[in-house]
Formats: sequence, structure tokens, C-alpha cells
Amino acid sequence: MSSAIEISNLKFSYGQHAILDIDELKVKAGEIVFLYGPSGSGKSTLLELIAGVLRAQGGVLKIGTQNLAELDSAGLDSYRAGNVGYIFQSFNLIPYLSVMENILLPFLFQKTQPDLNEVKNLISDLGLKDHINKPVTELSVGQQQRVAVARALIKKPNIILADEPTSALDYDHREKFLKILFDLCRKNNTTVLFVSHDRSIEKLFDRSISLIEHNRVQFSPTEVS
Ligand code: ADP
Ligand code: MG
Repeated sequence: MSSAIEISNLKFSYGQHAILDIDELKVKAGEIVFLYGPSGSGKSTLLELIAGVLRAQGGVLKIGTQNLAELDSAGLDSYRAGNVGYIFQSFNLIPYLSVMENILLPFLFQKTQPDLNEVKNLISDLGLKDHINKPVTELSVGQQQRVAVARALIKKPNIILADEPTSALDYDHREKFLKILFDLCRKNNTTVLFVSHDRSIEKLFDRSISLIEHNRVQFSPTEVS
């Protein structure tokens, strides 16, 4: 099976502060992977590198066949818009917009239009049909999270990057949320890289990876932000 993410000798520092030096890490296309590490160990930094928000100082980071180091900043923007769906810890929904407007946000400033049938199916799969015109502030946390999933999936990305989106939920809701996310991703053969410090959900994934075991930069807990 082909690789969705291929990392070797990837180096990243904030100024003089070395954060990541990852020898090798590969994720296959369609795989649903859990990457764990304590707070401050560089999980969000790694996701931002994969999303092309940050740039590595050395090494190889390939997404499909594309080496991100070869892209200029406009190239990275279009790579991100075309390939990556991001689910944030705090969901990052826009409070003054409706559910529908939040879901369609990735199409703002884009030349392409969403396929309305697919949008309808996604909304119904996520149980949001009766809420599309509500402001997102009127939704429960679980519903807001499903809006964040819809927004991340709306452009059928090859990769979903999820940054601890379950930390506000209790175990039952976490499990339900992950089941919905995984069902949708398996349907489209979407690769998922999900990071968290909370290993209680690890068994629900295809595979789990320890960031610390792959990182040559020694993690020192005193540096927790
Ligand atoms: P995690 O997501 O695993 O909690 P992060 O990737 O957020 O870890 O942070 C890794 C390290 O990088 C921490 O020591 C944090 O303080 C540092 N860091 C994160 N963002 C910045 C930034 N913008 N500038 C400088 N240091 C940062
Ligand atoms: Mg983080």
C-alpha cells in the first residue's frame, strides 16, 4: 500500500530551541493512526509541519508523492486547501456564523463549489440535519465537534489531522465521536493522524505511535508550556 505520510530525519526548532528530530515515521494511505506524547512533546508542531503551516529546517516530509520542502508558500497554501482537513482541540468554529456557514467555510475564497448532494449526505451522516441554520453557539459540545468534523471533511481531503479534539468529552462521547469520524474516513479512504496525550482511546485506532520514541530531541517535562 502506498504511503500517505513519509517522514525521515525531519528537524524543526523554534529559534535555538530544538523541538523535533524524527528519524522515520510512515503512515499508509487510509490508515487511522494515533500519535501520543505528553503535553509539550511537539505533537501540535508536527501536525503544523504536515499541514504546511510550519516549515521544517531539514529532512524529508512527503505527503503522497509531494515533498513539502519543494513548495513555495503559495504552493503550500494550495497543498493545504486541496489535501488536508484539520480538526482543532478547540474546534475553531466561527461563533457568529450558522452551522451550514461554518461547514462551508473551506469553500470561501475558492473557485470550486461544493457538490450539494454530498454536503447533504455528510450533514445527515453527522446528525446535523435539524441544526444547519442555527448559530453554532446554540449547539452542545458534541454537536459543535461534529460541525468541526463536517468542515474538515467537506473538501474530501486525503488526510485528516486531528489535534486532541476529544479532550473536552467524557469517554462514552469520545468513543461515539471517533466512531463517526472513522466511519466517514474509511468510506473515502481518508488517512487519519490523530494526536493526543490521552491513551485511553488508543485501542480504537488501527495503530498507535509514540512520538517520544521517534524523536531524537530529548523531551524534558520542565519545558511544558
Ligand atoms: P504538544 O502539542 O505536544 O503539547 P507543542 O507542539 O505545542 O506540544 O509544543 C512543543 C514545544 O514547542 C513546547 O516546548 C512549546 O513550548 C514550544 N512551542 C510551541 N509553539 C511555540 C512557538 N510558537 N514559539 C516557541 N515555542 C513554541
Ligand atoms: Mg498540542
